[in-house]
Amino acid sequence: MGRRCISKNTVIKLVKTISVAAVAATLLTTVSNASQAMKIHWFGTSNIVIDDGENAIAFDPFFSRPGLWDLFSLSTLKPDPEVIEHWLSKSPISKIKGVFVSHSHYDHILDLVPLAKKFSSQVFVDDNGRTIAMFQGYQENLIKIQKVNEIYSVGKFSVEVLRSGHAPHLWGKVFMSGKIKSPFPREASFLDYKNQDCFSYLIRHPQLTILFAPSSFEDVERKNVTVDLIIQGIAARKSSESLLKNLVIPYRPKAVMPVHHDNFFRRLDAGQEVPSGVALDEFIQTTKQLAPEVVVIQPQYGKPIEIGALNKLRH
Ligand SMILES: [Zn+2]
Repeated sequence: MGRRCISKNTVIKLVKTISVAAVAATLLTTVSNASQAMKIHWFGTSNIVIDDGENAIAFDPFFSRPGLWDLFSLSTLKPDPEVIEHWLSKSPISKIKGVFVSHSHYDHILDLVPLAKKFSSQVFVDDNGRTIAMFQGYQENLIKIQKVNEIYSVGKFSVEVLRSGHAPHLWGKVFMSGKIKSPFPREASFLDYKNQDCFSYLIRHPQLTILFAPSSFEDVERKNVTVDLIIQGIAARKSSESLLKNLVIPYRPKAVMPVHHDNFFRRLDAGQEVPSGVALDEFIQTTKQLAPEVVVIQPQYGKPIEIGALNKLRH
């Protein structure tokens, strides 16, 4: 049997072809990773969108932000679709497939239906949230009552619902609490948006794991896992030290992103204002003292945060 001879030129051509293919493949991987790096968009309060480049999930939609006068005068609160559109168009956002509402106070749910309608999203709410969504004309088959310890899959995200509670507003009390009677009043003021159940979320994704805890209520159901990032509501906290020791540090996060620290009686386009009572700087300083290894992320309205970089941080 004769052996086939491969000429030197053929070998060189082959090596070149393989090299070009390998470089192309590497580039493609890099490009596709870059376009699919996870991003978090923050629109004030605990209104966030987490986008993996294919799909997005949203929490606590609240763009319209009625002013103090609207509240004092007990005006009927209405979502403002133009404001929602304006902020969503600030940067590209993938299809929002699921919208979760941690509780049904107006600053967490007011814009649920217009946002969900835009993407025909599945929405996850409690009974009060369902009453509000039905009143605003959302399709019943897209409304799901979320249950503690259930895990909901949305694209590559899996979202586990954790039992939480609402941090007291004042004198140990949570205002606007109780079951909303159906039907929801046609001229509902902020007083009609009542808190019933209150949830936190453990969000798992191949890129990273996030604990989203919109309330500073500390007796949250604890899961025995570590997370990459905690998005932590800091309004009405007992103290930064106790919030960090009881809620944040046990999860050994690489980063913490404080939210719900801004004055939400101002419109988003008026810019971020932190009321002195919320003491954001003090929270950041206390984090540096008690958990110096944890990076504090300070979000800006509508400026997406690329969190792929978190993978390079310690764990
Ligand atoms: Zn609330």
